Amino acid sequence: MRSSWTAAVFLAFILFLHLPAAAGAKELSPQEEAGLYSLADLGPVDLAPKKVTVELYVAPETELAACRRMMPLVWNRVRAFYDRMGVTLVHQEGGPQPGPLAPGARLRVEMLTHKQWLARSYQAFDVAPPFRLRFLQVCRDKCAFAHLPLSVIHVSFKNFQDAESASKSGDGQANRDWLANLLIHEVGHLLGLYHAHEFVNDAVPEYLPDGKTPNFMSHQIAFKTELGWVDFQKRLVHSYLGRGKVYQQYARVDFDPLRYLELIKKHNGYREPKSGKTDGIRKKSGKQGSPKTFDDDDNGEEDDLAKGSSQINDVR
Ligand SMILES: [Zn+2]
Repeated sequence: MRSSWTAAVFLAFILFLHLPAAAGAKELSPQEEAGLYSLADLGPVDLAPKKVTVELYVAPETELAACRRMMPLVWNRVRAFYDRMGVTLVHQEGGPQPGPLAPGARLRVEMLTHKQWLARSYQAFDVAPPFRLRFLQVCRDKCAFAHLPLSVIHVSFKNFQDAESASKSGDGQANRDWLANLLIHEVGHLLGLYHAHEFVNDAVPEYLPDGKTPNFMSHQIAFKTELGWVDFQKRLVHSYLGRGKVYQQYARVDFDPLRYLELIKKHNGYREPKSGKTDGIRKKSGKQGSPKTFDDDDNGEEDDLAKGSSQINDVR
């Protein structure tokens, strides 16, 4: 499964993304690899404002009627968040078929019916029919998946609504905040960021120094009115979008977040939390058909997420 997936991604790059073929890239020496994946020195990072085009597609089905009503205000919030980081999200109305997408340049958000979301997730993860029942269990408490190599985010609005009603909020503003936070988090993955809880000794804490504002790449984002970031994350994003070191790191692994995480872990001495709260890196490479994505996300119930994520790890 892995090889067919890799082949598909490779083909997509050649056909649609016009990226240089990674297979043709020269092997790095161990020293070169260590230098490339060291995050201690990102080299010069151009922090000038940058633009990223985002196709926003809301499926036409009536299941998405409430989503359609919420989206203008939700998207304003997403845009305002990234404006503060110096990243302008240029909105484009998405049609049923994606336009030409490219990592860090042209992204797509799909708000889908639950059925569509499952179908697209099966496809993106390359989940073969015998494993779909199990994947269904994994998906029960997920609202979205961000697929970095595909530059696409798939959102199940139904799962979001279910999580929302389970929390008994009923407050329209709070629900919009939560949906916006979910999209802010997922777009963060497509801008090259990993989870705040991924490592215990990196420069990305789950909460800001005030102790109450959640990091937007944490899982503590449900119903929060404010999310924040640390300067290091802003530098990672600008390095990625500016085709700097972070972009080179990803390009070298064909935008596979799991290979990226393994390499930055190795070359920065990062450690994963003992309790296994992290979900990305535990999907060890080498097993066939590992989902090549950062996650998940996010109904804000960490235990469920951890459980769901470990189940994802076993989907083969
Ligand atoms: Zn995530």
